[in-house]
Amino acid sequence: MGRFEYAPAPESRAIVDIKSSYGLFINGAFTEATDGKPFKTVSPASEEVLAEVSEAGPADVDRAVKAARKAYEKVWGPMAGRDRAKYLYRIARLIQERSRELAVLESLDNGKPIRESRDVDLPLVAAHFFYYAGWADKLEYAGAGVDPKPLGVAAQVIPWNFPLMMLAWKIAPALAAGNTVVLKPAETTPLTALAFAEICQQADLPPGVVNIITGAGRTGQALVEHEGVDKVAFTGSTAVGRAIAKSIAGTDKKVTLELGGKAANIVFEDAPIDQTIEGIVNGIFFNQGHVCCAGSRLLVQESVYDEVLARLKRRMGSLRVGDPLDKNTDIGAINSAEQLARIRELSQVGEDEGSERWSPECELPTQGYWFPPTVFTGVSQAHRIAREEIFGPVLSVLTFRTPAEAVEKANNTPFGLSAGVWTEKGSRILWMASQLRAGVVWANTFNRFDPTSPFGGYKESGYGREGGRHGLEAYLAH
Ligand code: NAD
Ligand code: MG
Repeated sequence: MGRFEYAPAPESRAIVDIKSSYGLFINGAFTEATDGKPFKTVSPASEEVLAEVSEAGPADVDRAVKAARKAYEKVWGPMAGRDRAKYLYRIARLIQERSRELAVLESLDNGKPIRESRDVDLPLVAAHFFYYAGWADKLEYAGAGVDPKPLGVAAQVIPWNFPLMMLAWKIAPALAAGNTVVLKPAETTPLTALAFAEICQQADLPPGVVNIITGAGRTGQALVEHEGVDKVAFTGSTAVGRAIAKSIAGTDKKVTLELGGKAANIVFEDAPIDQTIEGIVNGIFFNQGHVCCAGSRLLVQESVYDEVLARLKRRMGSLRVGDPLDKNTDIGAINSAEQLARIRELSQVGEDEGSERWSPECELPTQGYWFPPTVFTGVSQAHRIAREEIFGPVLSVLTFRTPAEAVEKANNTPFGLSAGVWTEKGSRILWMASQLRAGVVWANTFNRFDPTSPFGGYKESGYGREGGRHGLEAYLAH
């Protein structure tokens, strides 16, 4: 192969201080759960138990919502926007100061490579708080009327793929707009949200403005269904999003749902080839493919198919899979045994349906949850691996001849979160962007995020936008 090896370069985990157990963060303090059963969170790279975490039961959910209500009415709602801004700036700076620690903690609990948690997640988390801090005293310009008002108490439920980043996307605009929050992180990745609770204490945030409660689906359900909640913000699977939409139908709760995706990444014959290969790799292997907007359906123009596939496979052969804390790791661990089982099952379906499966030779660790970077060719639109979200490092490749055919295939999905277009022609980029039914269309790049830019879906990918001015509207009464 002529591939050279790297010496191990692990980031030290000495910087994080993980407690053996955590309570719930309610009304500014960590408290014992009154009616739930504790559960464990593990490092998916080693299956090592990292900590025991409390499960919030209905009585705990009730306490958290009441604390948020009181803080909303007495302190945060009436506070001047410029004063709320000071707290948000303080939180943003504390995140920057503690960013190495938070990145290591995120990689330990989630399994993502330190290179990503350090260089992508954490900078974006801080940027989100800085960005929305700037809005807190300028809400009359947010497009929600001349004197927009907050909604009240927001119930926020987030997934495990970008734990701290999803927290930032939810909490920063909510607080800037004058709401208070009760947030539930995913059960496999609660630790950075609990570290964020400490940051709220460090920032002297008034008690009850942010409450963090841990638990699984039952806790999430009790939270979104609580009658003291004015707004529900959910990111996760389409199935759970649909259940939430049903359960709150008929109430006057406002809701935003950020759900799944099956993005087309479309490569035209005139695309800059080296840049395109990097974009395909980033599109599907970033964060082990645990990305709602992942470029999981590659559409390649027939005339360049052989070249693109050959180069892609060569590049996949140089991806390093392994220890998330190693600075040279490209692909870390799959987040949980359940997610690994799902990726395996759908990949088997791909083979059974007649697609050809390929992975580079790579040695996977024996402990923990791992899946090699994988590409399926000979995929047709009817195949399940072309239709369903795999949420893992698995790429399905289809071909097309004309731009119109590319558009038709790209839009042939129940989802509509994102898409990518690779071509030298500016006019084609604009035409494709106008045809693609997706919330975000990237051109000659992929998986780029910025707090100023709205993000969200069409169709079964959900409704509402996060980020930018649009992200504020979801937390303001018109
Ligand atoms: P999930 O829907 O099972 O869980 C998401 C969160 O919802 C977790 O915190 C979970 O505890 C909670 N939950 C589960 N059942 C609930 C219920 N009945 N009521 C309230 N809360 C409940 O999804 P997952 O497996 O954790 O995450 C993967 C999915 O999330 C993928 O489908 C992915 O596309 C999607 N996702 C979407 C985005 C986006 O921005 N659109 C971002 C990340 C992940
Ligand atoms: Mg974990």
